[in-house]
Amino acid sequence: MTRAEVEKEQPLNPKTTKFEFGGCLGALFLSLFLPVFTVFINLQLTPDAKFSTDPLYYLNPCRSSEVWIPYLCWFGVLAVFDIILPGKTMFGTLLRDDTKLKYKINGISNSFLLILILGLRWQITEGAMPELVFLYEHHIELNIISILFAFYLATYCYLKSFVYFGKEPILALGGNAGNVIYDWFIGRELNPRIGCFDIKLFCELRPGMLLWLLINLSCLHHNYVVVNQFNSVNDALLLINILQGFYIFDGVLNEEGLLTMMDIATDGFGFMLSFGDLTFVPFTFCLQARFLSVNANDLGQNKVIFITSLMTLGYYIFHSANKQKSDFKQGKLPNLKSIQTQRGTKLLCDSWWGMSQHINYMGDWLISLSWCLTTWFVTPLTYHYSVYFAILLLHRQKRDEEKCSEKYGDDWVTYQKKVPYKIIPYIY
Ligand code: NDP
Repeated sequence: MTRAEVEKEQPLNPKTTKFEFGGCLGALFLSLFLPVFTVFINLQLTPDAKFSTDPLYYLNPCRSSEVWIPYLCWFGVLAVFDIILPGKTMFGTLLRDDTKLKYKINGISNSFLLILILGLRWQITEGAMPELVFLYEHHIELNIISILFAFYLATYCYLKSFVYFGKEPILALGGNAGNVIYDWFIGRELNPRIGCFDIKLFCELRPGMLLWLLINLSCLHHNYVVVNQFNSVNDALLLINILQGFYIFDGVLNEEGLLTMMDIATDGFGFMLSFGDLTFVPFTFCLQARFLSVNANDLGQNKVIFITSLMTLGYYIFHSANKQKSDFKQGKLPNLKSIQTQRGTKLLCDSWWGMSQHINYMGDWLISLSWCLTTWFVTPLTYHYSVYFAILLLHRQKRDEEKCSEKYGDDWVTYQKKVPYKIIPYIY
């Protein structure tokens, strides 16, 4: 069989036939609803926030240059750090054209530099930190700018997927339907890159995650410096900064783990991910800190211990279950019970992975609950994170089940009989 015949039989980029999120209409709805929702919920929690209500102000970068320039500098400087800072080289998962992409893993040097810059700025400005004050005061405007930026970036990646010289780019299996809105939303190209700069991995871990950290710090700074004049700090606000700061650095420092995750390995980079990474993560995951910055909530020692213990339990389950699967896949845990599949690999059905099919999701969800509890039961709005995360994890579990049942066939049926619970043992 000639190469042309093989390609005809098994095209590199098959057409997408299964639609998610309700197809094109669902994609359109989410693209309009979610941006409005992020601004709306931020305004509900901080109703006194000042911002321009004129849409033309944001659409014309000359008029809104005081917010556009800092935002673009933030994105640009992090991109330069990502390119020049040292790190180790790792390969991603095997792609459909039998190649693997090279990634530079330098989360440690990036995090170290950011902490160093923050420390120096604190020292030089004697705690005034005008950049954090700017972030705090222009929160809503930056939120809107990030939505526009995510829109432009997704549009750039969508158009770029059609322009190539020589080798055809690998498209995401889910984002090649031929429908402009749907493909733009899901992401047409699997790994859009500019030279060796990988847009998707960068956006997953740098501009959004680190902006979330800075927004939290801006709230803490507002409480400690502006409100309490360096005298005291609210315990709930300090706690949410510590818990989420730990989680953010854990993610950035262990970035190689992301290379095998669905987002990097199988999803395209469209508006869903660019908006999720650049807007949804920083501007909704910070809601507890934003709320606490204007409604200082004194938790007291017992609640602080309870919340910290819940986060520790969640992190322990999440971390040790993920590590166990990773060690097992590397052949380090031969004594654990498993099912030999016809594909040659094994499915672990012992220890954490005997309790449920995604026990790691349960740990992650407990972490989300601990964060929401820092606002105690003063408002239901800050619990949006746990609700959203439960929906995301349920949707992810369904997608993974479909993938595994297609991949492993009868072996997956046997596995499901041995490990019947999906996420929470004895409940679901
Ligand atoms: P999993 O870590 O559960 O990985 C699922 C994949 O692992 C399957 O597709 C299969 O892949 C393999 N697998 C599943 N069960 C077994 C088994 N019993 N034995 C061996 N291999 C198995 O899911 P994710 O990749 O979705 O999530 C990873 C982590 O990231 C989770 O802890 C999750 O909570 C977290 N996460 C966090 C998010 C956030 O916003 N904070 C968002 C999404 C995820 P194969 O067989 O092909 O190797």
